[in-house]
Amino acid sequence: MTSIFTRIVAREIPAEIVFENDRVIAFKDIAPQAPVHLLVVPKTEEYENVAQLAEGDPALLAELVATASALAAEHANGEYRLIFNSGPSAGQTVFHVHAHVLSGHITEGSLGF
Ligand code: AMP
Repeated sequence: MTSIFTRIVAREIPAEIVFENDRVIAFKDIAPQAPVHLLVVPKTEEYENVAQLAEGDPALLAELVATASALAAEHANGEYRLIFNSGPSAGQTVFHVHAHVLSGHITEGSLGF
């Protein structure tokens, strides 16, 4: 099944893309929960959640984290909250692994959404 993020990679649906290389894409979340709210996504949709990614391609997970950190420095002050929702009851709605990067001035409560 083609995920909504794969469709963003393919430019089938628009997004505000802020970073892209051969393995990773990052774009602004359509419903931001903080002044800076980016999604950092592996281009492959092979991994549904962060545990699968960690087991299947730890280097790609490390690349997501490094990208998140660099983008938080570029878009805010370099401090950030990194969230991987895993499973519907944890708030996951897109089953193509992605990191939420929340930065800027984060108010308490933006963990759960
Ligand atoms: P999650 O609930 O952890 O699976 O996160 C999915 C995120 O994708 C949510 O924060 C949505 O706001 C975001 N989202 C869904 N569709 C789009 C889109 N077309 N462009 C940007 N962000 C999106």
